[in-house]
Amino acid sequence: MLQQTQVKTVLPYFKNFILYFPNLKSLSRSNERKVLKLWEGLGYYRRARNLLATAKILVREKNSKLPKKLIDIKKLPGIGDYTANALLAFIHDQPTIAIDGNVKRVFSRIVNKNENKIDFNKLVETNKKTLFKTSRHSDFVEALMEFGALICKPKEPMCLKCSLKNRCGYFRSDKKFKQQKRVKLKEKNYNIFCCIDKSKNKIALTKKHDLGFLNNFYLPPIEEIIFKNKIKNWNFHSNFKNSISNKKLNINLYYKFSSKLPLQSQWFSLKGSNEFIPSFTKKIFKQILDIT
Ligand code: SF4
Repeated sequence: MLQQTQVKTVLPYFKNFILYFPNLKSLSRSNERKVLKLWEGLGYYRRARNLLATAKILVREKNSKLPKKLIDIKKLPGIGDYTANALLAFIHDQPTIAIDGNVKRVFSRIVNKNENKIDFNKLVETNKKTLFKTSRHSDFVEALMEFGALICKPKEPMCLKCSLKNRCGYFRSDKKFKQQKRVKLKEKNYNIFCCIDKSKNKIALTKKHDLGFLNNFYLPPIEEIIFKNKIKNWNFHSNFKNSISNKKLNINLYYKFSSKLPLQSQWFSLKGSNEFIPSFTKKIFKQILDIT
């Protein structure tokens, strides 16, 4: 849940999820619809699908135990280097480091070099005797992440109180490296077409879209605007902006009233449905509330 998502956003979801699925077995017995429902609003739904698939594999094939080798953990769905290392440290207490944004920042400041000039795996390998002196590897990895989040913060690091200041290149140097500026996300333009059956209070949604995000989820037909064409036979409703999965969307919303179902679509009640509807689609429902 914490991939690309802040702790404060995750907390209520995590608490609810753990109440519903208190252990691996209960999760492994569930299905995608239930898991996605609990994930609703958190975004990046592939994480939920991978989590469920991983739980099923672990229970079915690994006697409910997480493998102890990096190479075996990385074969599980959705688990890359970062998560595999975090799991090895947290669950098996192995000497390894999960290199997230916080850890990268701490290391780059200590060596006083820009992050993109550092090979972090090599840095850890070269310094492993110092880094893995402790026998509490799990605590060490967590402490390192927390240190980056609370002390060696992105803005205004608390250097004067920092216990590493005498070893820190950034603090000691007169020539501090320039930190990279965050790349601003480029906005993309989209048209969304809401076909509404007014008498039944239903809207046509489809899974057939080519967005590169929200794959396999129901949305009104949507297209990226590459060339501006006049939209015929649709009424303009409004323009709104939305951010989703690290993307900025500028959306023109069109509508028409019709009882004829568009191709590759299904009717859905505008007042909710048993089917999982992503929060992006629900936002569109709210936008068109005035005409339904
Ligand atoms: S001295 Fe400052 S920059 Fe260096 S590790 Fe500590 S908080 Fe970070």
